[in-house]
Amino acid sequence: MGNTIFSKIIDKEIKADIVFESDKVLAFRDINPQAPVHIIIIPKEEIPRINNFEMTKHSEVLCEMIDAANKLAREMKIDDGFRLVINSGDKGGQTVYHLHIHLLGGRQMNWPPG
Ligand code: 5GP
Repeated sequence: MGNTIFSKIIDKEIKADIVFESDKVLAFRDINPQAPVHIIIIPKEEIPRINNFEMTKHSEVLCEMIDAANKLAREMKIDDGFRLVINSGDKGGQTVYHLHIHLLGGRQMNWPPG
């Protein structure tokens, strides 16, 4: 039970192209992909943004999210080069206030990001 669109995806009230699911983590394709592979990896527990990360509470789920990102990168054959992004706050480009990691790949990434 949460307040964002991602909670509805977790609860299967809204459809998403789910590519990974465990007890604690869900990953699905971004609806507006910015690269040939663009996957959103979320904790099922609602953590609004990375600023709310608490070492004692959230270490395990964050590690699982990173592990899922690596597994998916291998599965999607982009493990030779990809990008993980966490946007935080309006100024950081965050639009959905349920913590998520973007996994982007399949094209050349540039730096600095826009
Ligand atoms: P943020 O801007 O918060 O870092 O990223 C939110 C991401 O969620 C955006 O890339 C956006 O395209 C994606 N997104 C927003 N709503 C939906 C949705 O209903 N379904 C899916 N699959 N992705 C969504």
